[in-house]
Amino acid sequence: MREVRKSFDGLDVLKGIDLDIPPSQKLALIGPSGSGKSTILRILMTLEDIDSGRVEIDGESIWTMQRGGQEVPADRHHIRKVRGKVGMVFQHFNLFPHMSVLRNVTEAMVHVLHMPREEAEKGAVDLLRLVGLEDKVENYPAQLSGGQKQRVAIARALALRPQVMLFDEVTSALDPELVGEVLNVLRQIAIESEMTMLIVTHEMSFAQDISDRVIFMAEGKIIEDDTPDAIFSRPKQKRTQEFLRTIL
Ligand code: ADP
Ligand code: MG
Repeated sequence: MREVRKSFDGLDVLKGIDLDIPPSQKLALIGPSGSGKSTILRILMTLEDIDSGRVEIDGESIWTMQRGGQEVPADRHHIRKVRGKVGMVFQHFNLFPHMSVLRNVTEAMVHVLHMPREEAEKGAVDLLRLVGLEDKVENYPAQLSGGQKQRVAIARALALRPQVMLFDEVTSALDPELVGEVLNVLRQIAIESEMTMLIVTHEMSFAQDISDRVIFMAEGKIIEDDTPDAIFSRPKQKRTQEFLRTIL
């Protein structure tokens, strides 16, 4: 992201974000509510447009420069290609309630990746095993706990084989006793996969543990960008220090 600005109804939500994320980095994005973290993720997922600046994923711009210097969305075909590289998991799982767990995972594999259903199901069972849900394939979302639903949502996002995964407070809606099982799945993915991961979380010890880099943002700006050790043990900025004091 280069000099990315975004406002909603006159409120400046992103005030010039410069951010380079190298391939396979595990980046934790932390900061107070309303600081613009979700907006960054939604822009990378092409769910939100920008007012100015540039956004590139894997060398491909998701915005095109128009005559006069105005950035406009690239054409739909191009956006679809770029979007295919990125997966996102939200705070609320948004599973399809009328589909089995297996079907929730295979649906996009069949319709987006055009995989034969049998092959998709084989892959989906492998992913459900990875998130510890191989015995739930025939269940429906209503029969699952929040932590299990979120693990299905993670498997479903992984099924599209993204190069980049975005996780937006995926444990915030869970009962406290269910947070650990979801964090453990994320930890395992972070350790084992080459995917680039951008993780918004309020779980500071988790962020410290799994990330290679932590960014603290506040009021639409990146305040501090450093190693987990530096951010959590010796934050330089007063704003970061105050935030960590209130949350830890
Ligand atoms: P965070 O994820 O850090 O809590 P967000 O990126 O969700 O912050 O939101 C940043 C600010 O932008 C908040 O003040 C929020 O109310 C506002 N905002 C986000 N999305 C919209 C929207 N679609 N319309 C209007 N305001 C929005
Ligand atoms: Mg948010």
